[in-house]
Amino acid sequence: TPAAGSGETYTIATDTTFAPFEFVDENGDFTGIDVELLDAIAANQGFNYELKSLGFDAAVQAVETQQADAVIAGMSITEERQQTFDFSEPYFDSGTTFAVLADSDIESYEDLEGQNVAVKTGTQGATIAQSMADEYGFTVTTFDDSSNMYQDVISGNSSAAVEDYPVMAYAINSGGLNLKIIGDQLEPVSYGFAVLAGENQELLQMFNDGLAAIQESGEYDEIVGKYLGDSE
Ligand code: GLN
Repeated sequence: TPAAGSGETYTIATDTTFAPFEFVDENGDFTGIDVELLDAIAANQGFNYELKSLGFDAAVQAVETQQADAVIAGMSITEERQQTFDFSEPYFDSGTTFAVLADSDIESYEDLEGQNVAVKTGTQGATIAQSMADEYGFTVTTFDDSSNMYQDVISGNSSAAVEDYPVMAYAINSGGLNLKIIGDQLEPVSYGFAVLAGENQELLQMFNDGLAAIQESGEYDEIVGKYLGDSE
């Protein structure tokens, strides 16, 4: 195994559109909190990487099938995923939320009876929505990325979309998305960088060491603050 900083290039998979964690900015550059944290951590630890923007489910599967070494995609550290993946230390706290059209009469999960709910394939939000569907009497449709999921609500096919709270709040507050959040944040959870269980342990260690270093130096706060302001 090459030593840390020996010049090995890791393939790291991510989502396509998940602002403020990963997205294409107005200059056409792929950026975001995950993208900048990874860059700062790699610089701190002296490893090279190639970032592949595949979509959330595809990114997770790429690691499972060893087409990629790791995933950073606002990926929630869940007990179920810990059967398959080794996660880094948590680097951001999140939760899941439902959102409906800003001018919708829907105010609660009960109001979703007989309606359709849009979710993103393979996400924690999809799992949560599926677990609530029977109780509240809604159906669930899956989309491969967040933009298409939001679009299904805007076009009126679905009545709600399920998304991570910080991502939905950012889309509404900074992205001009005409939706509003209903209900509380569900199942608070943290994001982690993940490798396949037992694989790429040196990379995981470098991520953790680099994360600790940039938290200590203030670089972590600078990156997060750039996207989310001082509220974090
Ligand atoms: N945090 C959610 C999950 O891990 C969604 C991640 C994403 O859509 N990129 O399932």
